[in-house]
Amino acid sequence: MPSRPFDLAVVGAGICGLAHALAAARRGKRVVVVDRDAQANGASIRNFGFITVTGQQEGECWQRAMRSRDIWVEVADRAGIPVLQRGLLTIARRPAARRVLEEFLETEMGRECRLVEPGNLGTYGDGLRSESFAGALYSPHEVRVESREAIPKLAAYLAEQLDVTFLRETVVHAATPPRLETSRGPVEAEAVVVCPGDDFHTLHPERIAAYGLTRCKLHMLRVWPRRFDERLPALMSDLGLVRYLGYAERPAAKALKQQLEAEQGEHLGNGVHLIVVRSADGSLVVGDSHHYAPTPDPFAPEGVDALILDEYAHILEGPAPEVTERWIGTYASAPDRLMLIDRPSDALRIVLITSGTGASTSFAIAEEVIGELYG
Ligand SMILES: Cc1cc2nc3c(=O)[nH]c(=O)nc-3n(C[C@H](O)[C@H](O)[C@H](O)COP(=O)(O)OP(=O)(O)OC[C@H]3O[C@@H](n4cnc5c(N)ncnc54)[C@H](O)[C@@H]3O)c2cc1C
Repeated sequence: MPSRPFDLAVVGAGICGLAHALAAARRGKRVVVVDRDAQANGASIRNFGFITVTGQQEGECWQRAMRSRDIWVEVADRAGIPVLQRGLLTIARRPAARRVLEEFLETEMGRECRLVEPGNLGTYGDGLRSESFAGALYSPHEVRVESREAIPKLAAYLAEQLDVTFLRETVVHAATPPRLETSRGPVEAEAVVVCPGDDFHTLHPERIAAYGLTRCKLHMLRVWPRRFDERLPALMSDLGLVRYLGYAERPAAKALKQQLEAEQGEHLGNGVHLIVVRSADGSLVVGDSHHYAPTPDPFAPEGVDALILDEYAHILEGPAPEVTERWIGTYASAPDRLMLIDRPSDALRIVLITSGTGASTSFAIAEEVIGELYG
């Protein structure tokens, strides 16, 4: 255990904790990150590695996603994290979905995006079922990294280049500055940021309980497509337009939702929407679904995966892809907010991403929190 005191202790080595370590270390602070696991194992390595801008809720969330995307690009370069894809094609299978995209384009968020006619989709790559689409929206903003490699590389960059200390396999039992009580002894730190992911019970449970949180379970798949054009950006479709608030809050989304309820009620009932991103080896990460419970069951019924693959088949040509890997992930979910910053004292912050946006917004949130702590 390090005997020297730190300026900042961060609990949690997911993207949220690492983002806080980065923001503080860049200000010259001596930082320690403490995590109970030997290696990254939470939501941060189970996600798509999809830094989503277009579709995030208008206002703060969208602005944070823009800022975080810039930091991702900069840090990926320094940390040797490959950016595997850029941009996003949101496919409108239905005219009602196209109307949502048209309304989106009229907002500030649509500035650098464009509507693509089905006949022009070949410009972005082959293999889409373009003839059955009503249109698509192209966004240049997104980047995609392979989370299971990116998160360890980000941690290594922080340790090697920015002198951040990591204490792994170390459970934090109490976090009240200037001291952490851990399973391996005390750690002294002037300030503390707790980024516990979806663990609501270990640290400051009474503070976290006030937010009425639950958990969300998601199904994810890795598939081998028979063919997939490497030029294609990340893909989404109609089901995402009623889930991602940047689209879902457009007036036209109401009619789309009614149509989807009639035509794809089972998909909506399981919170299924489609994201398809490509990995370096040519496989695709495809998902996902959303089931909410304080303790989600650990089971992954095949029927839910079938709904995800059904939507995939409406977007991409060719025979059904071979599924090579399946996993579930969980994240914190709040009834009324996408993230929360709790402030028990001047030197203590509890930061939870309470929606599926942490990969896309944590860097910006961390800059704000560290700015608050250090002025
Ligand atoms: C399947 C899936 C798909 C997703 N897709 C996207 C996406 O496309 N785009 C996007 O932006 N976001 C996405 N998300 C959401 C995003 O992954 C999360 O918001 C984000 O990873 C949360 O990061 P975190 O650091 O808060 O939590 P985590 O990654 O869960 O990390 C929390 C860490 O805290 C540690 N910890 C907790 N308590 C203690 C303690 N007392 N002592 C020591 N260590 C402790 C845990 O061991 C863990 O390592 C997705 C999430 C999932 C699950």
